[in-house]
Formats: sequence, structure tokens, C-alpha cells
Amino acid sequence: MNPSVVRSVHYSSSAAGPCVAAIITAVNPDSDLVNLAVFYPDGGFAARALVPRGNNEPGTWHWPEREEGLATGGLIKHPESIYLIGEQ
Ligand SMILES: [Zn+2]
Repeated sequence: MNPSVVRSVHYSSSAAGPCVAAIITAVNPDSDLVNLAVFYPDGGFAARALVPRGNNEPGTWHWPEREEGLATGGLIKHPESIYLIGEQ
């Protein structure tokens, strides 16, 4: 999958911490470098420019890891309600 503007990805901000949410804001068509809007769990956010694709190395982005039970068309139970995943 090629990166494109507005896709959601993970950003690795530190070696010890979990990856955090980010949205691609610009793509360099000649490389895997992207610009990101990064959203931290505490509510803070930051812009990161020219971020390379990586495998959880600090300062890199990657596609979100697949999680069991979240396949297209599957059901996920939530404490308050049930959401259909993959239905438009
Ligand atoms: Zn991740």
C-alpha cells in the first residue's frame, strides 16, 4: 500500500513507548518520506516532517499492526454497543 494524504498510520516516538496515532499530511512521491500530524495519548499533538518508514525505530512511521478480530466484515463488541467493521 502506498502512503497517501489523510491515511492513518502509527508513529514511533521513542524506543520504549508504544506507537502513537498519526495522519499523513504530505507525501514525497520519490521516497517513503511523509509529513505527519502526530496525536499523543495525553491529547498533545505535533507536526513531523520528512519521516521515514520503519519498523518501530524511533522517529519512523508504519502501517497499523493487524489485530485479531478486526478483519473486514467482522464484529467487535464494545461495552456500550456493537460496531460493524468494514461496512460502508
Ligand atoms: Zn504500531
